[in-house]
Amino acid sequence: MHRYVYVGNRPTRYVDPLGLYEWDPTLGGDRTDPQLRESADAGEINRGEAERTIKRRDAFRDSLRKASETAESLPEGSSERRELERSVQAYGEEGKPIRTTRIEPDTPGASAIVVTENVAVGVGELEEGIAGRASAMEPSFDESFRFGVRVTIDTAVIDRGGDQLSTTVAHEGTHASNRAAYQRRGIEQQLGLDRLEGAPDTEALDKTRHQDELEAYRVTHTMLRARRAGKTGNGSTVVWDPGWERLPPRLQERKRDEAINEVLKRPPYRVSPENPGERFSEGR
Ligand SMILES: [Zn+2]
Repeated sequence: MHRYVYVGNRPTRYVDPLGLYEWDPTLGGDRTDPQLRESADAGEINRGEAERTIKRRDAFRDSLRKASETAESLPEGSSERRELERSVQAYGEEGKPIRTTRIEPDTPGASAIVVTENVAVGVGELEEGIAGRASAMEPSFDESFRFGVRVTIDTAVIDRGGDQLSTTVAHEGTHASNRAAYQRRGIEQQLGLDRLEGAPDTEALDKTRHQDELEAYRVTHTMLRARRAGKTGNGSTVVWDPGWERLPPRLQERKRDEAINEVLKRPPYRVSPENPGERFSEGR
């Protein structure tokens, strides 16, 4: 447990407002696009693999840009816009891996605490019917506090691209945001920052599987609707139907949540408002 004393119990925080995502080793890791090509030229990596990786990176970049543009097209102040913006911001911009928070101690001579937060984007062969996944990376607590989220996109989904990919990227962004907020809170508690004014309630951040998925599917729904997708579903269940646009707004929202709950009742989720599944703290 690290406890620092601050002036008026208010630490100074320098926060890089843009989260920065990095590439997982499955998408070329630290190498930039030109470096991937140079490595292929030098015979260190397979040429075809380097090109495929760059193509997949471009597909991801394009999807994130589409999600961001979609958010901007939504009415200002609407919950749909806020929720989609939160998803996009969970990734931030491509660059160095990390969002860094520096906490300067009040005690002269004591060193600052650095908290680094990371989103790594990668690809993998996910189970049938799963387009993406967001999982917590093991946090580390040495000189700095490091934590992060890994977002994995199914290889077939990233290679197909299109609206399925952009809705998947947006959906997983909500999961990444929820997970990161919960983990960040845990670190703040370790640092003794948890009683600061305006700090979010830990319990509220410790979301159940149902809450987490409902929020992520609302974003999926927003993407499908704003991008004028046709009727879209998961197997026999419908997530979005353009016909719903004829309904009054209140009814549309109810339809949306009913449709999402119908999806969540089934495998692989099997959760409902009454049976909401595990919380983050329960190790999911
Ligand atoms: Zn999900």
